[in-house]
Amino acid sequence: MNFRWLALAGLVAAVPAFAAYPEKPITIVVPFAAGGPTDKVARDLAEVLRKGLNNQTLVIENVGGAGGTLGAAKVAKAAPDGYTLLLHHIGMSTAPGLYRKLPYKVLDDFEYLGIVNDVPMTLVGRANLPASNYGELVKWLEANKGKINLANAGLGAASHLCGLLLQQALKTEMTTVPYKGTAPAMTDLLGGQVDIMCDQTTNTSTQIAAGKIKAFAVTTTERLTTPGLDKLPTLDESGLKGFNVTIWHGLYAPKGTPKAALDAVNAALKSALKDPEFIKRQEALGAVVAADARVNPAEHKKFVEAETAKWGAAIKAAGQYAD
Ligand code: ASP
Repeated sequence: MNFRWLALAGLVAAVPAFAAYPEKPITIVVPFAAGGPTDKVARDLAEVLRKGLNNQTLVIENVGGAGGTLGAAKVAKAAPDGYTLLLHHIGMSTAPGLYRKLPYKVLDDFEYLGIVNDVPMTLVGRANLPASNYGELVKWLEANKGKINLANAGLGAASHLCGLLLQQALKTEMTTVPYKGTAPAMTDLLGGQVDIMCDQTTNTSTQIAAGKIKAFAVTTTERLTTPGLDKLPTLDESGLKGFNVTIWHGLYAPKGTPKAALDAVNAALKSALKDPEFIKRQEALGAVVAADARVNPAEHKKFVEAETAKWGAAIKAAGQYAD
């Protein structure tokens, strides 16, 4: 073999097996119903993410139910070939404290690809609820103990966590009505079949602006600056000292996914999160796109570990138990 052949052989060997990844559509599992806040983030993100992934189609598959744990379980068991991803939120960290038999291990069964964004929540109610501010809502909740329906997206969802902390803080028990996501829960809130709900601003801001639901407070410790949401008091300043729930989303792949695919998705995610249009759209809905340093697998995993410990303790203190 002459020198030219050797050089060529070296070149061929240097080409990674995944150089062409992705060669076909990628499925992103959203563990909640279509049209809801997690779904909206996923669909919005997919549009820009695909630009960094050979313009492949990114198919959103909604696997709602059991507070997001069904969808997460599906991805944990999916083929680790780079063609199945998971877009999940804080539920990744709350489920371990709530389920005794969680069908996956949060830290062992996934590859971490990076944090996507942070989204505040709002405490909202049906339009004909006889209270127009947080103080009046608390009085109404007290006067109607035992009759209040609180919608959520199932045990382990963000709406569940927020509702749980709210009931604990107000010392009021409500009847929780679980849905496969807060899209169908919102439909019932709009129809007046349920009374109140905590949900991400990505799902509530448009309905609040249209006057179709009532908004009472935000769940962050600081007031929001988003137009239309900036007048809402925080629960913290309204008397629930220390109340602070912010929802974050992250991107995952099944454990064992080839590194070249993980690197490609991470790089695509990094540039997607710098897309000015994407940032603008997210900000208009109250969301804050993650800074570059958080779009990092090691940082993401460290963060989920810390959040799991934090929420595990809070859930225990709230007297909840795994089912
Ligand atoms: N907002 C929902 C939750 O409560 C999830 C969703 O439907 O996106 O976690």
